[in-house]
Amino acid sequence: NTTSPRLPSYLKTSIPSGASFNKIKSDLRGLKLHTVCEEARCPNIGDCWGGKKGATEEETRSAATATIMLMGDTCTRGCRFCSVKTSKNPLPLDPHEPENTAEAIRRWNLGYIVLTSVDRDDLIDGGANHFAETIQKIKQKAPHILVEALTSDFAGALNHVSIVAKSGLDVYAHNIETVEARTPFVRDRRATFRQSLRVLEHAKAEGVQVTKTSMMLGVGETKDQVMDALKELRKIDVDVVTFGQYMRPTKRHMKVDRYVDPSEFNMWKEVAEDLGFLYVASGPLVRSSYKAGEFYIENVLK
Ligand code: SF4
Ligand code: SF4
Repeated sequence: NTTSPRLPSYLKTSIPSGASFNKIKSDLRGLKLHTVCEEARCPNIGDCWGGKKGATEEETRSAATATIMLMGDTCTRGCRFCSVKTSKNPLPLDPHEPENTAEAIRRWNLGYIVLTSVDRDDLIDGGANHFAETIQKIKQKAPHILVEALTSDFAGALNHVSIVAKSGLDVYAHNIETVEARTPFVRDRRATFRQSLRVLEHAKAEGVQVTKTSMMLGVGETKDQVMDALKELRKIDVDVVTFGQYMRPTKRHMKVDRYVDPSEFNMWKEVAEDLGFLYVASGPLVRSSYKAGEFYIENVLK
């Protein structure tokens, strides 16, 4: 079958606006801060940066979430859903990146920052120390900014997970991406479902208060398989789960199996909440960092 399902209208989004949004956006200029939100043209930028109707700039800023990519733009892995460039030997790390990123984040002063990265299987520690240093520097400069680290699986090296988990972060996230049965097809062959569970379990064992993961729907999973995955995640005390629709970045990437109806996303939200997740974000356009600051403030701090 060479045809792909048609794009439903609810996946077409409009360009965000609003005074707070524009201020947050204009502040980025001059800070040399590159966000995934802008560079990937994420459709949620209005929701994540924009805040609620009638909120002041200060209120908006303290709940706003942005995602920053560390360690370059080239990944050592090649997952079939991902548009990031792949190479066996990406450029060396920039030793100034932790300091420069932390300083820019301090000045930008958003409430919640998600730090993520490409996978760096070429580095001895997978980049764990670089990640941890960035978090420590942010917390030194601006302790009130909430930090989520969205890491790789560190090829299963749990000592590297520990380095990040003990860096002073607020949320440890690692994405399982899909159900166990679809993992070999969807993710790079070095990633396994069980290895990802071990990463999340270990982060919790290291004392992280909130652990988090994310799944794409529309990559050939069955409902039973999603249910099994949710139960596995609860067994190891994962606190937060998000669901979003897989969108094919280019024709060279794997096809969308189906567009999941918004009602099914609502169903998964209810199911996951009943299973005991602290909070759940679920919708066609949801990405793992979707409104993470707002959700954290509403569910963890209150
Ligand atoms: Fe940025 Fe993530 Fe929100 Fe998209 S979902 S705008 S990448 S924080
Ligand atoms: Fe993309 Fe992450 Fe897979 Fe690298 S490991 S190809 S960044 S999804």
